[in-house]
Amino acid sequence: MALPPAALLGERRAMDFRLAEEDRLLRAAVRNFVEEQANAVWREIERTGELPAHLLDGLRALGLFGLSIPPEYGGLGLSVVQKAIVHEMMGRGPWGLASFLSVHTGIGCIGIVRFANETQKRHYLPKMATGEWIGSFALTEPGAGSDAGALATTATRSGDHYILNGRKIFITNAPKAHHFFLFARTHNGISAFLVDADSPGLSIGQVFDTTGHRGSDIAEVILEDCRIPATALVGEEGQGFEYAKRCLAEGRTTLAARCVGAAQKALELALEYATTRHTFGQPLVDHQAIAFRLAQMSARTEASRLVVYRSAWLLDQGLPAIRESSTAKLMAAESAWQTVDDALQIFGGNGYIRAEYMIERIWRDLRVARVYDGSSEVQQIVIARQLRKGDLETPWE
Ligand SMILES: Cc1cc2nc3c(=O)[nH]c(=O)nc-3n(C[C@H](O)[C@H](O)[C@H](O)COP(=O)(O)OP(=O)(O)OC[C@H]3O[C@@H](n4cnc5c(N)ncnc54)[C@H](O)[C@@H]3O)c2cc1C
Repeated sequence: MALPPAALLGERRAMDFRLAEEDRLLRAAVRNFVEEQANAVWREIERTGELPAHLLDGLRALGLFGLSIPPEYGGLGLSVVQKAIVHEMMGRGPWGLASFLSVHTGIGCIGIVRFANETQKRHYLPKMATGEWIGSFALTEPGAGSDAGALATTATRSGDHYILNGRKIFITNAPKAHHFFLFARTHNGISAFLVDADSPGLSIGQVFDTTGHRGSDIAEVILEDCRIPATALVGEEGQGFEYAKRCLAEGRTTLAARCVGAAQKALELALEYATTRHTFGQPLVDHQAIAFRLAQMSARTEASRLVVYRSAWLLDQGLPAIRESSTAKLMAAESAWQTVDDALQIFGGNGYIRAEYMIERIWRDLRVARVYDGSSEVQQIVIARQLRKGDLETPWE
């Protein structure tokens, strides 16, 4: 097979790594908010476990509560690439704030935008876009985490209602949620429901004390003969698990973007510390072992960033990205963990003192990225399954 004509090969086109002007502005605005406002109060969040009201006002002022919601329902309707930009910048700040926002706008919103009917969208989305109503996603149960399809919560049809019974755990935003995008077993499989927090028979159980993510509460949601109208069913009965997988697939790419942001922040903090801290008569950064460590942190972070944005771009094109979004999540979470741990090593003993230097908080926050939204093992299961189906390499055309 011959090469194309030299004139065509010489033309510079097709691949463009620059961001559009509006995306650069979006990136700068969110970065500014995170650095100037959120990172200014990270110790307060650690101490109180609460997100200060002015940060929520800041998210509202930027329109970020509605970042996944189409403009006709009052949101920004961002593309996946734009969401990745927002989440990368949010990853530079306290993860309690980032997680609160990303569950509301991600798995809390996407299922409604994609699978709910018009009446449900008109009811929920405008108030979610302003942050008046906070959304949550209730899939995990004590006996069903990685193997979410094993969930045991039941939804039994009774006239114009469903009766829910079961227990969800580790549900982000549960104590603050207005409603839950919740999964339960019906007679023909798993179904999805929009369950309001004030439904009779629904209560919030234990609020878990987590290692990181201060300000973002995860809790039990207990359903005891919880009665909801039949109109709370989302889409078709029995299709809920497909909807859950679709919500999670997009969330993987944006969580991966958040990991890139945290890794980049850790790299910057470590570089600054290594420049000012002296040992053996010279700055740490002048010891080649430290400089090489920083170089590897940078290389890993750049590589993850490219994989993440490629996955986001594929999703925006409506192209298959099952392997790519799992690859983004796996690579970004694992490499960010290595980078953040390397950064803490550069801080020495100072890095391990609680709430002294920011790196210690990032280290605690980041650890769970390898566990939730599909653990690293689950991502490898997904990637390996795709490989066996012949999905070996992302097509270029
Ligand atoms: C901070 C936080 C927030 C969360 N928010 C939410 C939320 O908003 N909504 C929600 O529904 N859930 C949420 N979760 C739950 C989260 O998604 C689960 O914890 C996660 O899916 C893992 O499930 P599990 O904890 O039951 O671990 P398990 O499934 O018990 O797995 C334990 C370990 O075994 C590994 N493993 C499991 N199966 C295999 C296998 N086949 N091969 C190899 N290794 C395997 C896992 O990777 C993991 O390392 C949250 C969890 C946390 C910690």
